[in-house]
Amino acid sequence: MSTLDPRREPASHDEALRASEDKFAKAFRTTPDTMVITDRASGVFIEVNPAFERQFGWTQSEAAGRTSSELNIWATPAERQRMLDALASDGRLDSLEVELHHRDGRSSINLLYGAECQIDGNTCLVLTVRDVTRQRRQEQALQDSQERLSLALESAELGLWDWQLRSDQIYASARASKLHGLAEQPYDGPIGGFFQFIPEDEQRKALVIFRQLRDGQRDDFRVTYHACHADGSTRYLESTAKLYRDSHGQPLRMTGVLHDITTRTLREQALTASEEKFVTLFQASIEPVCLTRLRDGVFLEVSPSFTQVFGWPADEVVGKTSEQLNIWLDRGVRSQLLATTTHEQRLDNARAQFRRKDGQILTCMVSARMIKMGDEDCVATTFRDETARELTERARQLSEEKFTKAFHASPDAITITERNSARYLEVNEGFTRLTGYSTDEVLGHTALEINIWAEPSQRQTLLETINRDGFVRNQEMLVCNRAGDLLTVQVSVQPISIDQQDCLLLIARDISDLKQAQAQIQHLAYHDSLTNLPNRALLMDRLSQQIALLKRHNLRGALLFLDLDHFKHINDSLGHPLGDAVLKMVTARLESSIRQEDTVARLGGDEFVVLLSGLSGSRTDVVRQTRDIANKLRQLLAAPMTLEGHRLQVTPSIGMALIPDHGDTPADVLKRADIALYRAKASGRNTVQMFRRNMQEAASARLRLENDLRLALARGEFELYFQPQVDARSGQIIGAETLLRWMHPQQGAQSPALFIDVLEESGLIVEVGDWVLTEACHVCAELLQAKLIDADNFSLCVNISPRQFRQPGFVERVESSLRSSQLGNSMLTLEITEGIVIHNIDDTVSKMQQLKKLGLSFAMDDFGTGYSSLTYLKRLPVDVLKIDQSFVRDATEDPNDAEIIRAIVAMAVSLGLEVIAEGVEHEDQLALIVQQGCHLYQGYLYSKPLPLPAFRALLEHARQRPLT
Ligand code: C2E
Ligand code: CA
Ligand code: CA
Repeated sequence: MSTLDPRREPASHDEALRASEDKFAKAFRTTPDTMVITDRASGVFIEVNPAFERQFGWTQSEAAGRTSSELNIWATPAERQRMLDALASDGRLDSLEVELHHRDGRSSINLLYGAECQIDGNTCLVLTVRDVTRQRRQEQALQDSQERLSLALESAELGLWDWQLRSDQIYASARASKLHGLAEQPYDGPIGGFFQFIPEDEQRKALVIFRQLRDGQRDDFRVTYHACHADGSTRYLESTAKLYRDSHGQPLRMTGVLHDITTRTLREQALTASEEKFVTLFQASIEPVCLTRLRDGVFLEVSPSFTQVFGWPADEVVGKTSEQLNIWLDRGVRSQLLATTTHEQRLDNARAQFRRKDGQILTCMVSARMIKMGDEDCVATTFRDETARELTERARQLSEEKFTKAFHASPDAITITERNSARYLEVNEGFTRLTGYSTDEVLGHTALEINIWAEPSQRQTLLETINRDGFVRNQEMLVCNRAGDLLTVQVSVQPISIDQQDCLLLIARDISDLKQAQAQIQHLAYHDSLTNLPNRALLMDRLSQQIALLKRHNLRGALLFLDLDHFKHINDSLGHPLGDAVLKMVTARLESSIRQEDTVARLGGDEFVVLLSGLSGSRTDVVRQTRDIANKLRQLLAAPMTLEGHRLQVTPSIGMALIPDHGDTPADVLKRADIALYRAKASGRNTVQMFRRNMQEAASARLRLENDLRLALARGEFELYFQPQVDARSGQIIGAETLLRWMHPQQGAQSPALFIDVLEESGLIVEVGDWVLTEACHVCAELLQAKLIDADNFSLCVNISPRQFRQPGFVERVESSLRSSQLGNSMLTLEITEGIVIHNIDDTVSKMQQLKKLGLSFAMDDFGTGYSSLTYLKRLPVDVLKIDQSFVRDATEDPNDAEIIRAIVAMAVSLGLEVIAEGVEHEDQLALIVQQGCHLYQGYLYSKPLPLPAFRALLEHARQRPLT
């Protein structure tokens, strides 16, 4: 380019100058650049070149002499001023960019170059104007487009990069730098620096992709990686790029954009995580869940709980339809529920039944939702297994039914009432039966209104008990039925809650019958079943009441103790039924004769008691009254009675005691009357006897005696005496009777006459009798061994008391005594009295026969004093009759007794029995009995009963002195 540069202008001589001026003028004219020369001071154009003419439209002639302002070249005055300012500062212009106007008004952007110079003595300004409008416009366009691009990139959050492969330098936009974790400013440097915050493995991954692209194995470059920023945050980036090659196909550069995909990535990650969560939820769901495709019903997914409940493993279900699996019990239900689901987009708690894989039927509540999976309409269904609950519910219903049944069928009356109002809510049939009221009559009413309680306060009592104990158990109460009868019921009450309402469950049992039975038992317990009279227990009860009453009113009473004489004889000889009839007759007679306020009681057997109350007057009066009543009773009872064809006379003995004179406790009074009775009997029966103090002493003495006897046995104070029995014809001892002696420490040998009754009554006789038997057998055996007696001609007699004989096992006792002494059975004779026979003839005969079979003999003692009935005698296997000593004693004086002896002997002979007389004291007595035909005897005449040593001595003596 050539310029009109004054500084390059040679300042030499004229020729050169001219030549030069020409050259310059030519250059000035032909240069494509616009050039002007102006007067510095006036601004007037001196010269413009053709390029000026082309650029601005003004010719040399038009421009010369005019200023640029006059030509309106400046776009604005400010433009011109900028030029002037630039010139003023250093006298030259160097590419000052200004906007200038064309003659036709177009504007252009120009660069001004110029400097002041001296031409022809004038200060001129030489300017070159270079039109850079196109250039500038292009530049502007580029800049605009770049700005737009970067704006677009910015707004797209894209970063730009440009990698020069040869230099391995990379240029990156500020955005790209920022995304890579660098400062937010364009990066221009080695590629390694740009990637410093990218994890190495991701760099390698990107490099691999790049190589594939470079080697033509792929067409595009798209890699994702992340940058770990210094602040700890992570940006996920996607880089896409294009590879440029040179004309030889060698890789030259690669430009690309960076895309921040952090949000998307995080969202995706979150989505994945949430999907996982939902999958987990699905898997972990407690209730069975399944996902089916709507169009064909194919299972897409089932939860493990589905498998658990239905028994179908997921792999056997997925891909199949419920129809194929035959899961629904009723397909109609399925299509109905499916229709609801599709129509309403949902289904809530529909009940349906299903079949498990094993065939078991399940009841489930089904809920479903329509959901979209991709483009597919699907149904998510949940099942709540209600089978167990329904079963429980059913069981509960059943049990309720049962209870309802039990309620109604119960034999007891059961009611449910409102606790507060007492109104009946429910009553059962038992209630109707008990009260006679129908359900309709009572529901809604209270027991009080209906008048069920016999005592209206009873309900209050019940409530108080409930408040205190929480319940009532078996409370006895009285209720009134519809007919007005009073019933005894046993009531139990339990508070219950029905529908949050406090209620009372009351159970009542009619115990009227039970009460009656109880009363009967009570009656039986206090009454004698035969006569229906009060028994001992009731008597004692009444007696104690009576005693208290009499004491309080200062009155007297009396107790009569009656005993029928020889009642046992009647019982045994005529039989128990007749005995019972006698007792009833006696009862009737007693009851008819006493006053209402008096009591007749039977203590047992033939013992009766009459309790007389409220006797007034002095003690003497009372004693007299009592005695009179007793005598009246005695006479009344003694009146003959005819029962079952038997004419009988029963006499009583009566003991009397005064209350409270003779005792102020029931036991005392009874005991005293008993003592008096004992005395009455002792004094010959059929008498009445008032208790007296000395009787008490006798009774006490008897009691002492009993005690002493008991001790005597234990102390070995008993001994046996022996009285020989003799044959009057030969004078030989043919036997002996053993007689018991009590060797009293002070009083010496005591006769059994004094105590045998006591032994008998106290029962001691059994033991003592045993001892006698055993002892007698031993003595006999001893005598035999000592050859003092001869087994064939000697018989040992042992007395047996009635009670002893009656004792069960008596036969065995006798046997054992004989066995222990090894005495021959035939040597023993048992002496019995008619008293034995009287009790039970059959038993007596049987026992006697057993003993006779063993070889023993029997002697009937005291024969002639008792009943001495020939009938008995015929039945009893007796061997010997013992004529009672009372006949023997008086026989010599009393012809009657002698006659009796003869009769007895005659009887014995006719029955083939032996006969022996006892109590023979004198020779004339002996003579008499012998004369009457009785040759055997015992008595003082020959010998008194002897202690054993004396008896032995006697036997020895007799042996030495055989026949006389
Ligand atoms: P018993 O069986 O009639 O006995 C005869 C009683 O007359 C005896 O009185 C005897 O000592 C007495 N005696 C004998 N010869 C004469 C006589 O010539 N003149 C008089 N006046 N009496 C004579 P004992 O020994 O006092 O016995 C009285 C009653 O006691 C006996 O009467 C007998 O029934 C009973 N007894 C005696 N020993 C026993 C015994 O071991 N067991 C039982 N169960 N009763 C016995
Ligand atoms: Ca005897
Ligand atoms: Ca006798």
